[in-house]
Amino acid sequence: GRVLGIETSCDETAVAVYAAGEGILGHVLHSQVDDHAVYGGVVPELASRDHVRKLPGLVAELFAQTGLSGRDIDAVAWTRGPGLPGALMVGAGFARSFAWAAQVPAIGVHHMEGHLLAPLLEPNPPAMPLVALLVSGGHTQLVQVAGLGRYHILGESLDDAAGEAFDKTARLLDLPYPGGPAIARLAARGNPGEIDLPRPMTKRPGMDFSFSGLKTAVLHCFRESCGGANEQRRADIAYAFQEAMVDTLTIKCRRALQHTGCRRLVVAGGVGANARLRERLDQLAAGDGFSVHYPSLEYCTDNAAMIAYAGYLRLNAGGGDNLDFTVRPRWPLGDLERP
Ligand code: ATP
Ligand code: MG
Ligand code: FE
Repeated sequence: GRVLGIETSCDETAVAVYAAGEGILGHVLHSQVDDHAVYGGVVPELASRDHVRKLPGLVAELFAQTGLSGRDIDAVAWTRGPGLPGALMVGAGFARSFAWAAQVPAIGVHHMEGHLLAPLLEPNPPAMPLVALLVSGGHTQLVQVAGLGRYHILGESLDDAAGEAFDKTARLLDLPYPGGPAIARLAARGNPGEIDLPRPMTKRPGMDFSFSGLKTAVLHCFRESCGGANEQRRADIAYAFQEAMVDTLTIKCRRALQHTGCRRLVVAGGVGANARLRERLDQLAAGDGFSVHYPSLEYCTDNAAMIAYAGYLRLNAGGGDNLDFTVRPRWPLGDLERP
């Protein structure tokens, strides 16, 4: 069967088709980043309105690109939550209407389950059980994955998410949004050993994270060095921040693998696109003898391919359509059940 995926949880409108045995047939995305940039953050009402405007055209574009029509779709998967309530409602309404018209089932998917499963879209996907590091704009979690919908949270951020820390630090350094790629670019010109930042919560046991202190340490560092006056200094700060971030994530991943005895790690979410993080995790995996798996770069940040795929897996495992389209703006991943 072919599943149409629809993602509207935040500031990306995305649609994709997943086909059993074939994989992703096509995916299309419109990012609202530029619309919200002038406000310094995502404006929920603007996001909802833009989803309404863009969604039908994106589906038409997807069908043109893949040569498919509505009749070729066997099910619709949409993001039920977590996310912005209004934005989620747009996707829910559209998906439900489409499914109704096409007389196919629809299924509401958990956005973070989508992120978590994205690495499995790649060739030679790892089997479950596995450990997942979810590092996105709103979440930082280590998850023990026993199977589809069987998620145990091993640790998570007590304050800022990893992506959020990248974004806030970028703003401090006068870099554009999204901060992750901007910091990574600046860090490439930074010198090692110039600045020492903390590796929060790595000295005590456990797999929780805290990144707000790291952000504050960057702020002090920045002020001491006369703001952004010195370009090399800014690059050194970006370098030190990225190292501290990557070090901390790597240490906790190792802990999670040791704690669970698991030999497979998947990394997902926007920060999973970070080249330095991938380099360090690859080194750790080679040394410790586990495998590590990433989504392709386009499926790290928000997309509908992961939603189509998660919906496919759930429908295929017997998860049904109960015809509702209530959204769940707040929805802990650990509350999910197996299909
Ligand atoms: P959530 O999924 O938790 O609701 P989100 O969907 O907004 O949050 P994603 O789209 O998965 O998050 O990721 C966006 C985040 O990823 C941003 O914070 C961005 O700065 C970060 N990011 C993107 N690319 C990189 C990179 N190369 N290095 C570090 N961070 C990155
Ligand atoms: Mg986004
Ligand atoms: Fe996301």
